[in-house]
Amino acid sequence: MIAKNMQDAINKQINMEIYSSYLYMSMAANFEAMNLNGFAQWMKEQAREEVSHAMRFWKYLTEREGIVALEAIQKPKGSWNSAVESFEDAYSHETKVTSMIHDMARLADKENDFATSSMLKWFIDEQVEEEASTDKIVKKLRMVKDSAVLFMLDHELGKRGQK
Ligand code: MG
Repeated sequence: MIAKNMQDAINKQINMEIYSSYLYMSMAANFEAMNLNGFAQWMKEQAREEVSHAMRFWKYLTEREGIVALEAIQKPKGSWNSAVESFEDAYSHETKVTSMIHDMARLADKENDFATSSMLKWFIDEQVEEEASTDKIVKKLRMVKDSAVLFMLDHELGKRGQK
């Protein structure tokens, strides 16, 4: 059976993953309000992925005979002035998620909880990808000087999840 402090940390992370989903849904809605439907599509896919992260922690906790406890989800920010501002927030949010996962990995090591350490490896690798993908888009958006290029990028990102 999983230790109480480890269970609490996983439940906190489940809340954070669902909040991440909520934040990206809010960004999607904001992009739709700006008529940038490709960026909105990208964010909706991201939001779906975040729910799957929460469920991955959920499944693990249940397998370890832990108890899933859901808390209130924080209200996300509702508006961003530009695509670059939105993706900068997404990147900085992912760095926060990474540090929470690293804190959990430290706790698992301290507790000699090898199973949790092993489970967290997937998330540690996933965070490298999450940070890289949002950072790449921030960098592209910073280079955008006119709306034609912004629409091209909108079209490119809109392909996510549509294969
Ligand atoms: Mg996540």
